[in-house]
Amino acid sequence: MATYNLALILENPLNDAEFLLVKQTPPPKYGIEEYDSFVDSDLWDLPSKKLDRAKGELEPGSIVIEGIERINLGKFDFDSAIKKVLEQVGFKANDGGEWRFLKHVEEAEFGPGLPVNTVDRVGTLVVLGLINDSVQSSEKVNTALHYQEYPPGVILVPMKSRTSKPFHTTNLVIFAPENVKNESEDYNFVARGDALIVDPGCQANFHEEACQFVTWLLALMHFDWSSIWLDQLLKIVAALSKKLVVFVTHHHADHVDGLSVIQKCNPNATLLAHENTMCRISKDDWSLGHISVSGGEDICIGGQRLNVIFAPGHTDGHLALLHVDTHSLIVGDHCVGQGSALLDIASGGNMTGRSGAGTEFTETLRVSQRPSTCLAEKGNFGLLMFYKLVDYFQSTYRFIELAPHVLIPMHGRINLWPKNMLCGYLKNRRSRELSILAAIENGAKTLIDIVANVYSGVDRSLWVHAASNVRLHVDHLAQQNKLPKDFSVDTFNCSLVAFAEKVAKIEPK
Ligand SMILES: [Zn+2]
Ligand SMILES: [Zn+2]
Repeated sequence: MATYNLALILENPLNDAEFLLVKQTPPPKYGIEEYDSFVDSDLWDLPSKKLDRAKGELEPGSIVIEGIERINLGKFDFDSAIKKVLEQVGFKANDGGEWRFLKHVEEAEFGPGLPVNTVDRVGTLVVLGLINDSVQSSEKVNTALHYQEYPPGVILVPMKSRTSKPFHTTNLVIFAPENVKNESEDYNFVARGDALIVDPGCQANFHEEACQFVTWLLALMHFDWSSIWLDQLLKIVAALSKKLVVFVTHHHADHVDGLSVIQKCNPNATLLAHENTMCRISKDDWSLGHISVSGGEDICIGGQRLNVIFAPGHTDGHLALLHVDTHSLIVGDHCVGQGSALLDIASGGNMTGRSGAGTEFTETLRVSQRPSTCLAEKGNFGLLMFYKLVDYFQSTYRFIELAPHVLIPMHGRINLWPKNMLCGYLKNRRSRELSILAAIENGAKTLIDIVANVYSGVDRSLWVHAASNVRLHVDHLAQQNKLPKDFSVDTFNCSLVAFAEKVAKIEPK
């Protein structure tokens, strides 16, 4: 069932350009000094309240809202929601003023969980009115693809992709600035363009959507957006057909599946990726020009600067991107909107992978795109797996140091409390490692023993992914000499091959 939030814009009667924002309560602290020492900046939002359904027959409301009949939400109790919001900010409903319905915003299809209000820290109205978290049917994807623009200038379109549960979309991030700023001529940009697309991970084989990018833009044009939005979107279409830069955070299929569509639609587009990612992208997906980046480079899009950040951990070629103007950080798969990101054990898991060339690398890619088989691969990746977990922690601290205002993951909603979220990841990983150590100390010797013990409450379909994390942590523990003496790493390594078979035999709960 849909969840609705009512947000009120309380204008200053003396100056209607001013309106009231409320300082938001930050997420709870962790009670661990290290994590609690990282504090996000204050976040200001429109005062809002969840809209409840009216109990019984709804009396005619005492509060008149001009234009509310335009939306079909008659069953909701607007009166009490308005009164509660006003109480929050110290007003009463009869303090005067008129109520006018402004906008009904249906949230784009970001994935599971309750909606998150997305508003500006400094007061520009971005998301207004009612936010609707409908459980949308799959047909809806074809009729109108909803998007979100937050912060202003950063457009997110959740696109259906071959991603892992519980998500089913990858966020396509688009920068297509309308007002092109004068760029500094002497700045050393690695690439320049009119528009930037990040992680086109949509499924390319939607027959009814031969060119998904054009289709969604057309769908939006037929949608009832204000002329400003339409104008902006028309400019995006124009930009897509001109100087387009494509950036991919890493090589996973749910981030690169749409590349082949882009190269067909725009043969002048340039692809930017880490060398370790480029090597894993097939020529069928991208055969046009590309530029290898490794972190530290700047991209210029319509005069706006985006800074490339090397952020290994999820894969060894994983990159993040900081939009300098809004201080928004696109984190790829380092974090997701819900749950914890998976480290891909099969990507860069050997020295050949690190050096970035050779046929073994291609093989690594093939395996990594079929997670259920990557557990059958043999080989000693110990040292590099350790580095990868260390990489993951280091990348996380690098993100915390950047103190972004917004974290943009490629799956799920944006996060407005970045330091808190990143500390949550650190805490989660460390406590997971402690649980794995406890399982081993209690006698678990094989991969299936540990996964079954530590992830007993987790859906079995996710155990294959969980196993990758267990392997990383066991290696990390081994490197730190924390494993008990009676635990044999050789026995554990030998158990990897049988893992998938054993998972398949376990009766579902
Ligand atoms: Zn990924
Ligand atoms: Zn992904």
